[in-house]
Amino acid sequence: MKLAVFLDRDGTINEEAGYIRDLNDFRLISGAASAIRRLNRAGLLAILVTNQSGPARGYYPESWVRRVLDRLTELLLAQDAHLDDMLYCPHLPPKAGGKVTGYAITCECRKPGTLLLREAAARHGIDLARSYVVGDKATDVELGRNAGCRAILLETGYGKEVLAGRYQWPVQADHVALDLAAAVDWILADLPTSFATTVT
Ligand SMILES: [Mg+2]
Ligand SMILES: [Zn+2]
Repeated sequence: MKLAVFLDRDGTINEEAGYIRDLNDFRLISGAASAIRRLNRAGLLAILVTNQSGPARGYYPESWVRRVLDRLTELLLAQDAHLDDMLYCPHLPPKAGGKVTGYAITCECRKPGTLLLREAAARHGIDLARSYVVGDKATDVELGRNAGCRAILLETGYGKEVLAGRYQWPVQADHVALDLAAAVDWILADLPTSFATTVT
C-alpha cells in the first residue's frame, strides 16, 4: 500500500486569485514546486484534489479547468516536480449557486466529500489511514477527517482567515503550517510515527 499527500490547488499550490480566466493569473506560490519535488523524491504520491465549481456556475467550460491543470503540469515540470494524479469536482448544488445542467448537482466528489480520495485510493493502492490532506480551507481539513487521513491546514490562501474564524468554520487540523513547504517538512518528519502506528 502506498502513502499519498492529497493537495488542494488554489491557495495551496498556486496563489489564490479567485476564478482563473487567464493563465497569467495562475502563479505558483513560492516554494510550492520544490515542496512537491521533495514529495516525489521521498516516494510519496502527490495527488491534486480540487473543487472547481466554475463549470457549474457557468463561468467557463470544463475544458478550461483541464487547460489550467495542463498549465500547472507545465509549471511544475519546469521545476522538475510532478503530480501523480489530478482529480477535480466540477459540480455545485443548485442551492449553492450551481446553474449549468449536468454540473448543478449534489455530488459525492465535492470536498469535503470523499469520493475523489476513494477513487484515487482504489486506482493507486493508497492506504488512506497513513496519508495526508493539505489545504487552505476548512473543507480540506474536513475532507482529511472524513477520509481518515491526517489533515494539515496552511496559512496561505484563505488559511489565515480560517484560523481567525472569519471564513467558513473552526477547524481541528492535525497540524497548521505556514505554507506547503513547511507542511512537507512536517509530513516527512511525521512519516516514522505513521509507520509505527501501522506496526502496532
Ligand atoms: Mg484552496
Ligand atoms: Zn462533484
